[in-house]
Amino acid sequence: MKRILITGAAGFLGSHLCDRFINEGYHVIGMDNLITGDLKNVEHLFKLEHFEFYHHDVTKFVYVPGKLDYILHFASPASPIDYLKIPIQTLKVGSLGTHNLLGLAKEKNARILIASTSEVYGDPLVHPQNEDYYGNVNTIGPRGVYDEAKRFQESITMAYHTYHGVETRIVRIFNTYGPRMRLNDGRVVPAFIGQALRGEDLTIFGDGSQTRSFCYVDDLIEGIYRLLFSDYVYPVNIGNPNEITIADFAEEIIKLTGTDQKVIYKPLPVNDPLQRQPDITRAKEVLSWEPKIGRAEGMKKTLEYFKELSQEELHKSEH
Ligand code: NAD
Ligand code: UDP
Repeated sequence: MKRILITGAAGFLGSHLCDRFINEGYHVIGMDNLITGDLKNVEHLFKLEHFEFYHHDVTKFVYVPGKLDYILHFASPASPIDYLKIPIQTLKVGSLGTHNLLGLAKEKNARILIASTSEVYGDPLVHPQNEDYYGNVNTIGPRGVYDEAKRFQESITMAYHTYHGVETRIVRIFNTYGPRMRLNDGRVVPAFIGQALRGEDLTIFGDGSQTRSFCYVDDLIEGIYRLLFSDYVYPVNIGNPNEITIADFAEEIIKLTGTDQKVIYKPLPVNDPLQRQPDITRAKEVLSWEPKIGRAEGMKKTLEYFKELSQEELHKSEH
């Protein structure tokens, strides 16, 4: 039986990856220090013989007994309010954490895939963003702690590939949404849905003309799965190219939830990228992958998940 280590397993994406690899017949070892994750996301796996969970901070030495075939390194705060609250941990998990996991991959002869991000492009001057664009990041701006950690993560991963022959894969993930996002993680999808369900006005940062392109989680997981088993070592964008302004997105959520909320405007966070849209030509060519689930369908599924949360959980998330 193949054995896979998934870091960030109790988080949004990590928990969906655990489900996918359990369903594919793998022995899955989940690792997480729960700094932004929640055990609830994986508790349905605890009864399974082929799921293990290690409560561990990957910036400390990582040890896993036995053989390992694959490593997926997804541990890292991912939402702007999280990484602004824990900036040093964010830098450490992208740098020291990634170093530890690359060392483990080398030791175990395992293939490792690391979760990079569209944030390596910063506030992009090229649109849409393809993998050859070097990016426009303010190293010392508030988002620099995340963006530069991820840029370092890519560099050290390529260095382990080039100098140590480790089998590496790099995915650049664009804004992804779906069940198991935290209502209070500050990202725009749970923020707007939570506000609509609580009967609050939706908070648009800036004038709402900035754009994002939202990918449903099942599509992303399929892209990551294909990349892991491909031969391709250079970064690959995975995201949904369907771009929308944040103002139009707020209107969509108001319609979807059937509420009569209004929008209110708040200041745009510093260095908030003005536009973002993945160029997925490379993913189409090397992985034969493209997203299948449109925003209408994906948002409906996501809303159903949030509607099932208790009133207590819904109101706990106000901020
Ligand atoms: P998340 O916050 O839900 O999950 C991250 C998990 O990592 C959490 O469970 C957290 O407790 C864990 N973690 C953080 N630091 C750790 C440490 N030092 N040791 C062990 N565990 C640690 O976030 P997510 O949305 O699931 O993101 C997962 C990965 O995907 C991150 O690396 C993120 O940068 C990347 N990513 C996500 C998106 C997105 O849209 N969701 C976009 C781009 C990149
Ligand atoms: N945003 C917003 N209102 C909110 C939360 C976010 O207008 O309540 C905006 C935010 O400024 C950004 C976009 O929505 O322009 C996406 O933000 P998110 O935090 O989801 O992701 P990221 O900025 O990392 O792409």
